[in-house]
Amino acid sequence: MSTSKLPTVLGEISTDNLGTTLMHEHIFVLSPDSRINWVRDWNEHEQILNAVTRLEQLHATGVHTIVDPTVDGLGRDIHRIQTVAEQVPGLNILVATGVYTYNDVPQYFSYRGPNPYKDLPEPMIEYFVRDITEGIQGTDVKACLLKCAIDEQGMTAGVERVLRAVAAAHRITGTPIMVHTHPATQTALTVQHVLDSEGVPPSAVQLAHSGDTTDVDHLSELAEAGYLLGMDRFGIDVVLGFDDRVSTVAEMCRRGYAANMVLSQDAMCHSDWIAPELLDLLPNWHYQHVLRDVVPALAEHGVDQGDITAMLVGNPRRWFER
Ligand SMILES: [Zn+2]
Repeated sequence: MSTSKLPTVLGEISTDNLGTTLMHEHIFVLSPDSRINWVRDWNEHEQILNAVTRLEQLHATGVHTIVDPTVDGLGRDIHRIQTVAEQVPGLNILVATGVYTYNDVPQYFSYRGPNPYKDLPEPMIEYFVRDITEGIQGTDVKACLLKCAIDEQGMTAGVERVLRAVAAAHRITGTPIMVHTHPATQTALTVQHVLDSEGVPPSAVQLAHSGDTTDVDHLSELAEAGYLLGMDRFGIDVVLGFDDRVSTVAEMCRRGYAANMVLSQDAMCHSDWIAPELLDLLPNWHYQHVLRDVVPALAEHGVDQGDITAMLVGNPRRWFER
């Protein structure tokens, strides 16, 4: 493997320092507009303190790096993330640029770029490239991946516009792409169609939430095409239970696709998207589930240590080095 440099929130590191990497964890997922209007008990200091504690605990379990794909639509605030990162200097935090929507583009973009009245260039491309090459929100913190989404609504006009802007930013910068997918409706196939037409190679693309299905034939087809599959929602047991998630990864390893998977939890320290009462349904949804529960369960299912190390260390590194 050839080493390369990668920006973290606290500055550049060499990819051989990535170590054990959780490829999809948020720190905060927030709705800034709604929060300003409706939330009366937001305590910035307490939220930061809680995040620092949770991330310190995660780092102490042996995780060296988390990838935080929080972008426009998920309440990204890089200043808050900087404040957290400075207090957990041992943990590498990698951040993203992009737009997260299942439907339309954010209202901000409705009459910027392509619109019915005047043919304007797509501003997202310039914004994404700026986040990657100069820094996010006026800081010098650079994004090292692009993020967008498609869900059960399918390839809406808004989703396609973002996906094509992400592809264009990839062509300019070479930055890899993470797409939130909905495997129950095989949305990855429509993503493949658009990204193929944009000239984006599958090896540059991570299909997030692939682990939400037990359809190993579908996943094998995507792995065979060269995509990296995010088996990244361990702990969201209401969508798919622990045993099904573990068995699916084990079967994919048995079929020889360990090099095409990464393990994560899509967890966070705080999200205002979820009523606290609902969190009671998700006792395993936290930063430490993968190392504490998933890895031993995979070993019990016959997954060898080499494959586990590949999914946690080698594959994340290779994806960023490509
Ligand atoms: Zn996520």
